[in-house]
Amino acid sequence: MNLDALWNYMQIENEAAKLENAMRQSPKRQLLLKNRNLFKDLQNNNTKIEADFEAMAARLEELVSEHERLNALLGQHLEKLEKEPPVTAEETKERTEAIVKLNDTLGRYENEIKKLSKDIDVKTRQQKDIRMQAAKAKAEYDRVKVEYDKEYNEDNEKLKVLRQKVADESAKLDSSDYEQYKSIKSHVTPPMALLMNNQCSGCFMSLSIGTIRDMKDTGKFTLCDNCGRILYTKD
Ligand SMILES: [Zn+2]
Repeated sequence: MNLDALWNYMQIENEAAKLENAMRQSPKRQLLLKNRNLFKDLQNNNTKIEADFEAMAARLEELVSEHERLNALLGQHLEKLEKEPPVTAEETKERTEAIVKLNDTLGRYENEIKKLSKDIDVKTRQQKDIRMQAAKAKAEYDRVKVEYDKEYNEDNEKLKVLRQKVADESAKLDSSDYEQYKSIKSHVTPPMALLMNNQCSGCFMSLSIGTIRDMKDTGKFTLCDNCGRILYTKD
């Protein structure tokens, strides 16, 4: 059993883990992801607006053509009124009603066309805004990506060196020590803690006299009663 070697090994392993963590939480990486997500959201919004446009344009086309048709029909009615005026009261009533009804429908269509045109204007402005925001997000993404790639490549080189060091050092460890270390590490990280003032520096629990006495027995690991870490003293 060689606790010193294991302790030194843990420092290197911690250093690698710290770097990996820093890489994941890099502000540049966060900014990159933020802009990527923003760009995607804006693209989705744009797609939705495109679909809205398509539906509105189809409805507008329908309304305009229907309006044209009814307007021509109204023209025919009015022309007929001049050329062949109604004779009976009933005929007058019937033909007047038809004209009023046509006029009402035309008015409704006109209102809908006006409203639709306004909606299309609003959507057009929205789309312009969204496209501007998307272009900004994309430009920001591209800018940060260059910086992030540089940072990532540098960190990744460092990480490769550290990981190699971890592998080299682990090969030098007593294999039974290393197996126990790994098994403890699967429950608690870091798996070793300094004993300071009769306290475990991993969980800050005071240790029993028995446990402290056990540490002098160098034949096996002494584990913290509370957190299960391997206890270590430098002397
Ligand atoms: Zn502990």
